[in-house]
Amino acid sequence: MKTTKKYTLPESEIPKQWYNIVADMPNAPKPLLNPGTRQPLKPEEMEGLFAKELVAQEFSRERFIDIPEEVQTLLKIYRPSPLVRASGLEKALDTPARIYFKNESISPVGSHKLNSAIPQAYYNAIQGIKHITTETGAGQWGSAMSIACKHFGLDLNVFMVKNSYNAKPYRKVVMRTYGAQVHASPSNVTEYGRNVLANDPECQGSLGMAISEAVEMAVKTPDCRYTLGSVLNHVLLHQTIIGLEAEKQMEMAGDYPDKVIACFGGGSNFSGISFPFLRHNLKDGKKVRFMAAEPAACPKLSKGRLDYDFGDSAGMTPLIPMYTLGHDFQPDQIHAAGLRYHGGGQIVSQLKQDGLIESYPVEQIEAFKAGVIFAQSEGIIPAPESTHAIALTVREALKAKESGRKEVILFNLSGHGLLDMSAYEMYLNGSL
Ligand SMILES: *Cc1c(COP(=O)(O)O)cnc(C)c1O
Repeated sequence: MKTTKKYTLPESEIPKQWYNIVADMPNAPKPLLNPGTRQPLKPEEMEGLFAKELVAQEFSRERFIDIPEEVQTLLKIYRPSPLVRASGLEKALDTPARIYFKNESISPVGSHKLNSAIPQAYYNAIQGIKHITTETGAGQWGSAMSIACKHFGLDLNVFMVKNSYNAKPYRKVVMRTYGAQVHASPSNVTEYGRNVLANDPECQGSLGMAISEAVEMAVKTPDCRYTLGSVLNHVLLHQTIIGLEAEKQMEMAGDYPDKVIACFGGGSNFSGISFPFLRHNLKDGKKVRFMAAEPAACPKLSKGRLDYDFGDSAGMTPLIPMYTLGHDFQPDQIHAAGLRYHGGGQIVSQLKQDGLIESYPVEQIEAFKAGVIFAQSEGIIPAPESTHAIALTVREALKAKESGRKEVILFNLSGHGLLDMSAYEMYLNGSL
């Protein structure tokens, strides 16, 4: 292992506002549509499903949005997160590139998801909501919502994709420890779930199905709202705290990234680290490249089509203009369950169409190989999702070595993999 160069901000330097990139985009994203009328969705139409303030953020064009003090206080339990010079990884790759990573794995639940779970629970609580529903793929978002809801006295039902429910048993124990109720989806708890099971009792579920179940329960339960851990504008907004901190920390390090890399599921950690830097491309003529690492098994940005599509399998959500593989797409059961979502979201899809961000598919084996190199050189076992970002970083660092370029790469370590050891075991046994 290496000697650390770690850049930490004092607690007082935690960002006081989130950055909303919609204010600076050359082309505004296309509107969400009401699936019945195909007319642009009005904020009021979303308020039965999401807390009012979150809906306001979803439609906001204000450049900066204040982070409530109570949210700041909770974020300070683990923020600001460190920026680390990956000198061990640089040495292992023998690259002239200078590599940095933002370490979001240090949150109590082990991923960046808590950055949005805290404000989402907060806005629901101050509105007087009592019950929350959500879905989770790998269990990261469900874990984050479980502790956030417990803090604000909200009761939580989580629909967890059945395949992950069985493959990642300790995640459901984490959620239950924090006080949530966890259902393997498709479940018998909702009408949609019962229908799916009637047709296919062995169904292993998908994020789209779990969303349909969570949405159904939210609309049928009094004082209940639904929450989503990625894709939507307000979630991306909350995650910009990552990049806003990283900007200050890169300054402390005396460097500026040439490339910003993150893995891509629904786009929240990618947007979180990218958008604050992307604003300087848009406004100040910087030429940073923003590179999303997608799983080859679910390459929505690289191989999807740009179209209006549903966010869930049953077609209960608004129509979202996005790069999509189709809302009924069922990706292979890869171990990075958090990356198995079918679409890319409104803002990210517009940025991709405008050539402002790039995407690259990464095979699962290449990802785990990079994850093991990182674990051995930096000492942190990355989440299977995050290994995709590391694999793309390794690719770029090796290219830099070939051409002798001294470029600066910044990637986001979205989470650790200590609850994903069965996936690592399969990789190490050669049985992936
Ligand atoms: C959920 C998750 C992802 C993927 O979601 P995004 O919204 O694309 O960030 C990536 N890494 C980890 C650790 C996750 O928990």
